[in-house]
Amino acid sequence: MNVQEKMKELFQAWGRISDVSRARALLEWDQETVMPPSGIPHRAQVLATLSGLAHEKLTSPETGEILAFLEERKEELDPLEKAHLREAARAREKAVKIPRDLVERMSRATSLGLEAWKRARERADFSLFLPHLKEILDLKREESRCLGGGGDGKDLYDPLLDDYEPGMTSARLEELFSGLQGPLSALAARVRESGRRVDLSPFQGDLDPEAQLAFGRKVLEAMGFDFRAGRIDRAVHPFCSGHGPGDVRITWRYSRTDIRPALFGLVHEGGHALYEQGLDPALDRTPAGGAASLGVHESQSRLWENLVARSLPFWEGFAPVLEKALPRRKGPADPEALFRAAGEVRPSLIRVEADEVTYNLHILLRFRLERELLSERLSLPDLPAAWNDLSEELLGVRPGNDAEGVLQDIHWAMGALGYFPTYTLGNLYAAHLFEAARRDLPDLEEGFRKRELLPLREWLREKIHRHGSVLPPERLVTEAAGAPPSPEALLAHLENKVSVIYGA
Ligand code: MG
Repeated sequence: MNVQEKMKELFQAWGRISDVSRARALLEWDQETVMPPSGIPHRAQVLATLSGLAHEKLTSPETGEILAFLEERKEELDPLEKAHLREAARAREKAVKIPRDLVERMSRATSLGLEAWKRARERADFSLFLPHLKEILDLKREESRCLGGGGDGKDLYDPLLDDYEPGMTSARLEELFSGLQGPLSALAARVRESGRRVDLSPFQGDLDPEAQLAFGRKVLEAMGFDFRAGRIDRAVHPFCSGHGPGDVRITWRYSRTDIRPALFGLVHEGGHALYEQGLDPALDRTPAGGAASLGVHESQSRLWENLVARSLPFWEGFAPVLEKALPRRKGPADPEALFRAAGEVRPSLIRVEADEVTYNLHILLRFRLERELLSERLSLPDLPAAWNDLSEELLGVRPGNDAEGVLQDIHWAMGALGYFPTYTLGNLYAAHLFEAARRDLPDLEEGFRKRELLPLREWLREKIHRHGSVLPPERLVTEAAGAPPSPEALLAHLENKVSVIYGA
């Protein structure tokens, strides 16, 4: 048998694994959008069965044999085939190294942990969640050790992080964060000392949800969201769910009095959706056919949300459209006023409501604490106080109770340790990529003033979307932007914004 025939076998096997995962994803989408509430236990069973099937196929001796054969004759593969092999081997290695028993214990611990977290959060009482978090942390340490973490001076955090951001290490993150922390804190202080508050009334009023959605759809159309390959539905949490470049679904929610949750949510998820719609159809159902990483995915949503839809040129283009769609807002549809309202900076306790400047400080707080928890430098009973102290140090605000502090996020209850940093990587990559796009497309922002956003989508499609995970994430961003990512572009963007809006 030659390598070409083996490669075909790999694609066949991978196509089936990918189909099972997509069936799962579609049922998850259904659960969040239209499933009746009593369907949960039935659905949990189906999802568990499908997970088991995909895992079985991935870890099967047949798949192992295909990969071993290709590994042996690697020098005969072209660069794209090598990328497929790398991605497939990576997924299989992780699946094989973690014993099924550990997977099942983790699944149980997080199911119970999630329920306990919800109760604890309702009562603002961390002690109700503590025993569950202890078990989850123990299992995550075990998982990390299975994947080569711990011992030999190897960080327990790195294998967990690598799950979400291939190739990223805690040492590299430390470096990126250390470049961010001081300048971000200084920016937040400048805003505070300016004593200025921005007027939010241009986004507020008695706002018909249907009209909010209609306006959001206009923006998505301008972004190049393909409605023949996508749809929008209501859900409790906004998310994007991709089932192949021809079927990408986003969800939205709204407030009746403020258009920002609906609008910026739709643009954010729309950015994720453009990535999924822009994946190369020729790579569909192959190992390197999906997104490069969570950080790169988040960079696409943040870029559209923060660099485009919160910019002055964008509002110069869209202010008249907003005025027509939602005339009953309190404030004027003046581009300057809308730009200022969209750029409000106000340190707050809750991450998901945080502004562009303080958001990354929320992430730094979680990154620090989860590393200390994993390495047992911080003991669990001390966690709520450590959270509150660090919140005061980094953000200048102190939670009044555990619900506003340590219990606010779902991630740890889900066992998602190492996930938070991908949000900041997304912000860094977004600013870095946008700066490169502006260099490559000198008329970019002039186009925004005429609501012409398509050239940006084309640039992103060419530089990022169509490549799938052929290149590792940091290299993909480096090649797209012509330089490795650093905090510089993000900081320059935020400096500029704070100067213009707060005159500080
Ligand atoms: Mg996102």
